[in-house]
Amino acid sequence: MDGFITLSFAFTEYFGIILGMSDQQPERLIGSDSRPGDHFDHALRPQSIRDMIGQDSVRENLEILISAAQHREEALDHVLFYGPPGLGKTTLAHILANEMGVNIKITSGPAVERAGDLAAILTNLNGGDILFIDEIHRLGRAVEEVLYPAMEDYCLDIVIGKGPSARSVRLNLPHFTIVGATTRLALVTAPLRARFGAVYRLDYYSPEAIEEIIQQAADQLEVPFDPTGLTEIAFRSRGTPRVALRLLRRVRDFAQVRGDGKITAEISGQALELLKIDSRGLDSMDRRVLQAIVVKYRGGPVGLKTIAASIREDPDTIMDVVEPYLLQLGFLQRTSQGRVATEQAYIHLGLEPPADAVQPRLIN
Ligand code: ADP
Repeated sequence: MDGFITLSFAFTEYFGIILGMSDQQPERLIGSDSRPGDHFDHALRPQSIRDMIGQDSVRENLEILISAAQHREEALDHVLFYGPPGLGKTTLAHILANEMGVNIKITSGPAVERAGDLAAILTNLNGGDILFIDEIHRLGRAVEEVLYPAMEDYCLDIVIGKGPSARSVRLNLPHFTIVGATTRLALVTAPLRARFGAVYRLDYYSPEAIEEIIQQAADQLEVPFDPTGLTEIAFRSRGTPRVALRLLRRVRDFAQVRGDGKITAEISGQALELLKIDSRGLDSMDRRVLQAIVVKYRGGPVGLKTIAASIREDPDTIMDVVEPYLLQLGFLQRTSQGRVATEQAYIHLGLEPPADAVQPRLIN
């Protein structure tokens, strides 16, 4: 009995640490950042366009883009992916490199601090290579200006020397491909956006697609499961593969410690409850955002920064991770005066909606 209590305590503590329950600001399982444990996901990344589940329209477009480039024996056109975190933008960049049989170099907007850094990266690329720039909206102005001629004319304008003797030299670059990714298309400047030959939006996945992704992962990890156990996880994964795979890992742990290792509907339900992920996939931060709008601001309209300040959260996280999903569920609406909670949001929180509550406009 003693042994059980110790184990049970240790387990709850373990889940508490994952969720950061001991902190005021819990670490989010459904956050956008990559975690050390995510190397597990990387090993499960689909390698080819055919292996990729979901995002049918993007996949079809990419297949055409790839075969046209291969047919012409040219480098791929520059491609920009946008959409909420964890939907597969980085995965698609790797798939493009695999399909084209080229190397991929990876960087991100904030990592390329100076124009010289970008010049160094670009001059090291071979013909056809892919340069993946994550968070491309965070590139500095000076860096972007080097990128324009590089993307358009495959050249770099370098200034040699200083003062009156300075002169500009044009350096030719091999034909490479930039694959950009952003969660904020609106922050990508118009000149940069115009230099991408193809721009694709990634949408949240259907529960069926997520279930297939989880099932594949469970098979690869040799975790025994009942299909209903995976359905439960899929429903609470907010249509996001990264979240689905993280939840699968946590439910697998739970099944090992509290069950016989098999993921059943009951085990999934209990594990997700312990993780405080509710029936629609909302975690405590999502609910705090909704509650702030509904309770503190009487359903809104209220500005994003006011919401963020009132619950002491980062406005960028709310905008990138929380809000898109609440909008998708029809719990929130964006109006010119601010964010408004819909009737559905009140119902989900177990509150009586006011007579004039906004009806949800569902986004497909
Ligand atoms: P993003 O770059 O959009 O934030 P990632 O490409 O890093 O997202 O995807 C997050 C994780 O989800 C990856 O590690 C990958 O294993 C998994 N993943 C994403 N899309 C798919 C998919 N369509 N099928 C299977 N796994 C996927």
